[in-house]
Amino acid sequence: MQRTIPTYLLVLLFSILLMLTYNNGLWTGIVDANQLITKHNLLFLSSCAFFLTALFNILFSLVSFRFVLKPVLIFIVIASAAASFFIDSYGVHIDSSMMQNVLETDSSEAHELFNSDFIIHMLLWGLIPAFLIAKVRLAHISWSKQLMQSAFSITMSILVIGLVAAFFYQDYASTFRNHRDLRYLINPTSYIYAVTKIAREQFAEADKPIIPISQNAALGTLASDKSKRSVTVMVVGETARAESFHLNGYSRETTPELEKTNSLYFSDVSSCGTATAASVPCMFSKYARDDYDNEKGHGYESVLDAISKAGVEVSWIDNNSGCKGTCDRVEHSKVSAERRPDLCVDDECYDELLLENLKQKIASSDGNQLIVLHQKGSHGPAYFKRVPTAFEKFTPVCETAELQKCSQEEITNAYDNTILYTDYVLANIIHYLDSISEQGVDTAMLYVSDHGESLGEHNMYLHGTPYFVAPSQQTHVPMVMWLSTGFQADHHQNMSCLKQATKAPFSHDNIFHSLLGMTNVQLPGIYDASLDMMTQCQQS
Ligand SMILES: [Zn+2]
Repeated sequence: MQRTIPTYLLVLLFSILLMLTYNNGLWTGIVDANQLITKHNLLFLSSCAFFLTALFNILFSLVSFRFVLKPVLIFIVIASAAASFFIDSYGVHIDSSMMQNVLETDSSEAHELFNSDFIIHMLLWGLIPAFLIAKVRLAHISWSKQLMQSAFSITMSILVIGLVAAFFYQDYASTFRNHRDLRYLINPTSYIYAVTKIAREQFAEADKPIIPISQNAALGTLASDKSKRSVTVMVVGETARAESFHLNGYSRETTPELEKTNSLYFSDVSSCGTATAASVPCMFSKYARDDYDNEKGHGYESVLDAISKAGVEVSWIDNNSGCKGTCDRVEHSKVSAERRPDLCVDDECYDELLLENLKQKIASSDGNQLIVLHQKGSHGPAYFKRVPTAFEKFTPVCETAELQKCSQEEITNAYDNTILYTDYVLANIIHYLDSISEQGVDTAMLYVSDHGESLGEHNMYLHGTPYFVAPSQQTHVPMVMWLSTGFQADHHQNMSCLKQATKAPFSHDNIFHSLLGMTNVQLPGIYDASLDMMTQCQQS
């Protein structure tokens, strides 16, 4: 007969396994935070082992019911294996914004992350333990006995936590207060907490109508007084970091084409979030970063609704994973490869296709337009897939999504080529807008990246680190503005003043108000002229 084990023992062993083997990132963080090797610090470290085990033990004791416990543990061990892979390989932190990004990732993005290392890791730390858990035979006891056992187990765990707190409270307080990011490394509570938070928010959002902001939106005097057409293009960049722009002082010539245009580069711009799912809704939201949260981002109309309500034709063309709710009520589409199939490989299209689609969109109308182009940009980890071979200027490049298999130089080269390609795409959008401005259309382009990227600095890769601990590589983003001569004149812009202003600090907070300014839409009560980049150098 097969041996059985008591439920409480399975829970305890599972908690110890999680604490020991799925939390490398956390352990490294705790050790780094308490570097001095003293007797006290060593005792504190051992207390962490007891604390974590007790914490997990409470969590799983709560679900130690027959037919429930094993499926839960199997799910947790697989999810924790995936979490530990990303924490250990890419230095990611797991908060709700990161989880939101994971949940909203499209299949082609996810595909890049599922490489051979990931599969081996999942096999060793996900599937094999899951199989063993499935095989375990739990001792059969009555419900009342089971409840008593769980209650006892929880009480003992609380006691352990109490004892740990009595002796080491100061150490926990200072470690977790000074290194607030550590709690995003606790596997599995970090992702359980994040997913619960998202589910709670979505549940609250589900039957709430979108709160309108556009009731009083109307065209301002600049446009209604004249018959001239105006076309504004907003390019939402992806994963471009300012420090890899030559325009920003980077030693490599990554932005040669933009430098030949008369565009303005803003050198001190910070993003709203460190991931697409946070930054994209935020930059189009009336809320500034300090005030912004996910619920507000999805609960209110965006600036696109207001501009559309005022009579400007608004379109969103996407070469990324969608607009995260921002463009739901205006015309939106994925890039179309119909006329340029050569610009796509498999399911993936190069950003140049955005320019082709832009030309068609502008030609299809004779009204005032705001067209948002959402780039694929520098999205990682497969940077090499973002650029046609002609743009592989910096070599050798990392030709895999498994960054850990590439040298630092190869990763940087592959990334820098994506910036070089974005430079080419932006410059060509400007050339095109310049050419149609000669036919009497007021044209303008505003480019800003959604967030930056870590390329190994501080042992971090990719992005999505909680904002308050995120390195500047993830939050300092490039921004470029170009205004046609007609646009400058009609908007009364003093260009030498604007050139001076490019060194001042700006952020995604400015985008909402500047888009209203650029499209000449008035939104009384909500529009804030002090945040509109068009007003600072306006001559009366
Ligand atoms: Zn992004």
